[in-house]
Amino acid sequence: MSKVQHGRCLCGAVTVEAVLSDEMGACFCDKCVRWSGSAMIGVDAEVGSVVVTGPVKTYRSSSFAERAWCDTCGSNLWIRDDGKQYELMPGLFPNAGGARLTHVVYADRAPDGWNYAGDLKRVSAQDYETSNPFVPEGETP
Ligand SMILES: [Zn+2]
Ligand SMILES: [Zn+2]
Repeated sequence: MSKVQHGRCLCGAVTVEAVLSDEMGACFCDKCVRWSGSAMIGVDAEVGSVVVTGPVKTYRSSSFAERAWCDTCGSNLWIRDDGKQYELMPGLFPNAGGARLTHVVYADRAPDGWNYAGDLKRVSAQDYETSNPFVPEGETP
């Protein structure tokens, strides 16, 4: 998908434009579950394609990443690492920009009471950390 998608937060004060990946990933790491309040799903944006307007607040949630939300309505907006790679909240965009949920990371950390059904790629915490050597040991974004 190479089309620019136009998104916004709940109150409309923040707008986000980006070229999105076709694929979404869910994360059950402790930080994502706490931050989202339930099930964190993100969609990667093409580097350099993200344009944001409006009142954004950020929280440095790790040594290498920040999380952002609308200062007016509190809608979660993104997780971004220091490489400037955005993982945007798909709910900002109509029909999630057409992206599909394809994978779950920290799949072995999902709470007993909920998970995602279906034919998804499931990556354990250990496998995720092994395949992302930039992530400091034991630290999630
Ligand atoms: Zn808002
Ligand atoms: Zn996570």
